[in-house]
Amino acid sequence: MPVVINFKICDNAEVCNGITVCPTGAFQWNKEKKTLEIDEKKCINCGKCATSDESCGVGAIRFAKNEEELEKIKKEIEEDKRTIKDLMVDRYGAQPINMPFYCKENDLKKVISTKRTVLIEVFKEDTEECLIKSIPVKEIFNMLHIADLTYRKLEVETDEFIEKYDIKELPSLIIFKSGKMIGKIDGYYSIEDKEEFINKIRKVI
Ligand code: SF4
Repeated sequence: MPVVINFKICDNAEVCNGITVCPTGAFQWNKEKKTLEIDEKKCINCGKCATSDESCGVGAIRFAKNEEELEKIKKEIEEDKRTIKDLMVDRYGAQPINMPFYCKENDLKKVISTKRTVLIEVFKEDTEECLIKSIPVKEIFNMLHIADLTYRKLEVETDEFIEKYDIKELPSLIIFKSGKMIGKIDGYYSIEDKEEFINKIRKVI
């Protein structure tokens, strides 16, 4: 069995990218058992369910090329302390998870009409990055140490909005203070670029 699903971080949903990318139908949803599973008879060991860019966004599907790799993966999963709850938190550049963090263009005026510092992450559905590689919003709060900070993910709908805020690349972080835009950081920053991203925000604030 070369494919292993890490159910500690998998939401075990009927709609799974592993199913979509699998060329043989081996990666499937078992209706009776209500779980994802791999039909070994149909699996051609191509690894697409684990390695394709269109597959699992949180890295829950693993593929082993040989027995040695399989044992290593099983051990990593056994020792993995993460849970689905740890991953399903809002992150810069990744899909919105909690609705209170989410807003639309029309909500912006209301959101920034405050003396607080407001960080608006502007995104489009097709610019969403992998959850596991993205910086949790909670960490941005912790690293900035600002008491009166508001964060929202704004899904951009019009070109006018992009032009108005001179957005060069999505996602983009627009920073407001007392209702006025005080700065902007264009582009995606992954968890590896966390320090750089936070320093850029600090410079604006
Ligand atoms: S390794 Fe290939 S054939 Fe097997 S389950 Fe994954 S995508 Fe399907």
